[in-house]
Amino acid sequence: MVSEKGNISIQTEDIFPIIKKWLYSEKDIFLREIVSNASDAISKLKKLSDIGEAMLPENYKPRITVSVNKEKGTLAVSDNGIGMTDEEVKKYINQIAFSGAKDFVEKFKDKTDDQQIIGHFGLGFYSSFMVSTKVRIDTLSYKEGSRAVSWESEGSTEYSMEPSERKEFGTTVTMYIAEDSKEFLDAWKIREILRKYFAFLQYEIYLIDENEKKSEDSEDDTKGKEEKPINNTYPLWLKNPRECTDEEYKNFYHEVFTDFNDPLFWIHINMDYPFNMKGIIYFPKLKHEFETMEGQIKLYYNQVFVADNIKEVIPEFLMLLKGCLDCPDLPLNVSRSFLQNEGYVRKIASHITKKVADKLTLMFKKDRENYEKYWGDINPFIKYGCLREPKFFERVKDIIIYKTINDKFLTTEEYLEQNKESDKKIYYVNDENQQAHYIRMFKENNMDAVILNTLIDSHFISFMEQEYKDVKFMRVDSDIMENMKSDSKDDDEQKKLEEKLDKLFKEATEKDKMTIKVEALKDETTPAVILLSEQSRRFKEMSRAYGGAINTNELFPDAETLVINSNNPMVNRIAELYNEEDRKEDVLTATLHIYDLAILNHRQLEPDAMAKFIERSNSLLMRLL
Ligand code: ADP
Repeated sequence: MVSEKGNISIQTEDIFPIIKKWLYSEKDIFLREIVSNASDAISKLKKLSDIGEAMLPENYKPRITVSVNKEKGTLAVSDNGIGMTDEEVKKYINQIAFSGAKDFVEKFKDKTDDQQIIGHFGLGFYSSFMVSTKVRIDTLSYKEGSRAVSWESEGSTEYSMEPSERKEFGTTVTMYIAEDSKEFLDAWKIREILRKYFAFLQYEIYLIDENEKKSEDSEDDTKGKEEKPINNTYPLWLKNPRECTDEEYKNFYHEVFTDFNDPLFWIHINMDYPFNMKGIIYFPKLKHEFETMEGQIKLYYNQVFVADNIKEVIPEFLMLLKGCLDCPDLPLNVSRSFLQNEGYVRKIASHITKKVADKLTLMFKKDRENYEKYWGDINPFIKYGCLREPKFFERVKDIIIYKTINDKFLTTEEYLEQNKESDKKIYYVNDENQQAHYIRMFKENNMDAVILNTLIDSHFISFMEQEYKDVKFMRVDSDIMENMKSDSKDDDEQKKLEEKLDKLFKEATEKDKMTIKVEALKDETTPAVILLSEQSRRFKEMSRAYGGAINTNELFPDAETLVINSNNPMVNRIAELYNEEDRKEDVLTATLHIYDLAILNHRQLEPDAMAKFIERSNSLLMRLL
């Protein structure tokens, strides 16, 4: 072959600045592209050898070498793959690679806001010009009798080709790093990028810092360092799930997610039909109860990392988990137009959803004890999944459980079955401290209530009420159940008592619009409780969430109901003293105090009322002494 100079036939002048601008946010993509090409070149050679089309040396070992030379300003990627003949260079590099870049620009030039997508897909060989002033290819085809060729270009439409001295088949791409991309001459930076994309590449990758090597050689050349690839060529997801030990799963998790905690459990996906997908999805342990889960699902394409949390492929709620998914059938190159294959992508998402639901169902059925143990950690994930994904909800609705105030874990059905008195209502607690008094009343009446105290629960409650039209969720302080009351006397005497108490409490509290009810509660020790209707409380909470612009106290002056317990001795006593003029002041003081205590069991007192309450308490104590 004689040396030649030429012009690439297509109009590419305008491409470079556009590409550079677009890919700026994820410049390191170029290395992914060049190393992926090297890996593809090895795969092609191996395939040819498998079908008897290529003869490989006996000791052949696939290998990719990345060399950084800061002094010379070069970064080189070498492979011992298929190589190219001069004809192939002309065809694949001069025509295909450049036209690929052109297609890319055509396609995306109006979508400058779509940085994310563009960043995820490379531009192939051409992307090397993002960081280089000049790129050289040095290659020898595996085909017998081939001559080595070198190709060079400065990223414009001009290139030159000439014979090369190269002796081994394979390809080396040498990038002369541009002034504004000097960070790619830093071996640590290169290691970091290689680890990000190729931690699990199937062929060994070696990183060589040529400057370091030189200085070592000159100091002491007997002390040759043991060479180690930067990657693990056989990630655990490839292994047959039946042969994987718990230890291996845990170690893999620690390694990939640099999380020292053990995961709770995991799902190993290993399927060939109807499409290829392998991976491991972990349920991480939450560090503390109210932590919002922040997961990470790494997507791989034939063991090459593509991106984290790609929402087009992975159901959004699964992104709360951690894991690796290798989808070799996924069309991830621009040329193969990833986004047009949405139907396929949806199939993947629904398959993962099914796998996760199956695993949870199996655990619920076969190992309920552990399922309950993990519930605290996994419930935000499951609830979020139900809210986001109807199919997921369909699959898991019968295995949703609630922790109760009596430390049980019950499904909706079990709760309703065991608490028949609740009359299709699920009573719940969302703050065990604040609602302690009501919890005690529930326990004393052998009633259970579920604990729903995570951030997602208020949404989840509304969701469940929509799904189960005949089930209502009621906070424990919103109602008094029939079975907490004793049979009340419905006679004149009772009526009189009710009238007296109503008047007395309104006078003492100076709240004549207050809703008051008199009930005979089984629990005699409680003089009065405040109830807040579920509906108005939810409305209040909602308006608070929207900035509290609406004054709900004005809107719902009667939202709170004071329930006075006619079985309580203190209540009976104030009613008795009601008509004794000389005790009037004491009766009013006691009444007000009973009211304040009921409020305090429910919420905070207003500042003014609180000050008065303390003053009153002090003087009562003083009287006692
Ligand atoms: P793509 O990889 O998407 O086909 P590229 O622009 O990256 O596009 O590469 C164009 C072509 O150049 C490849 O399809 C391949 O035939 C050839 N090529 C690139 N790098 C190598 C390499 N390291 N060894 C052999 N052939 C290569």
